[in-house]
Amino acid sequence: ENACNRARVLKSGLSDYLTGWHTRRYLNSRLREELARAKRRGGSLSCLMIDLDHFKRVNDSYGHLVGDDVLRDVGQLLLATIRGSDIVARYGGEEFLVLLPETEEVGAVSFAERIRAAIDEYAFARGSELPPLKLTASIGVAVFPAARIENVEDLFSRADGALYRAKADGRNRVRQ
Ligand code: GH3
Ligand code: MG
Ligand code: MG
Repeated sequence: ENACNRARVLKSGLSDYLTGWHTRRYLNSRLREELARAKRRGGSLSCLMIDLDHFKRVNDSYGHLVGDDVLRDVGQLLLATIRGSDIVARYGGEEFLVLLPETEEVGAVSFAERIRAAIDEYAFARGSELPPLKLTASIGVAVFPAARIENVEDLFSRADGALYRAKADGRNRVRQ
């Protein structure tokens, strides 16, 4: 089912040309649906905001084409890590968003930690002549239900605030 969804989304222009993942536009409407569903069922919904650390340096040091390759590889790493029901979008230039339906805080944080570690451990190839490149990511986690999270904007700003703390605390970490 996920493969079918993915094929359909690719055709519809709601997918990101670089990574094949959903775009911000798709994610915004999907998030609204998922939050409504969680409310209706009394379930939970987690949101991960992933931002690559010092990504500008990759472009500045090795050029934008290498930067693009790295973004593609990160997209593939996410594909290898998520479950079929999870929803991934490339949300900004070097920002990815993951929605985890039916996932509470403990699960969301350990999942975020798995993604963080996977990126940290990965050696990004740059052709056979050059040594691979190392990179880290910071991740902000927000979970519904929680006090003062009532709508999509609340969930986003909570994840964004957590991401900001992950950066401020030194990057390459998960914060909630
Ligand atoms: P921080 O750790 O604070 O997140 O530092 P940063 O360098 O990652 O943050 P900043 O937002 O200053 O820079 C993001 C960079 O991502 C800037 C831009 O060159 C790069 N970028 C955004 N979109 C793309 C893209 O599609 N391809 C490539 N190659 N680079 C991109
Ligand atoms: Mg960014
Ligand atoms: Mg960044």
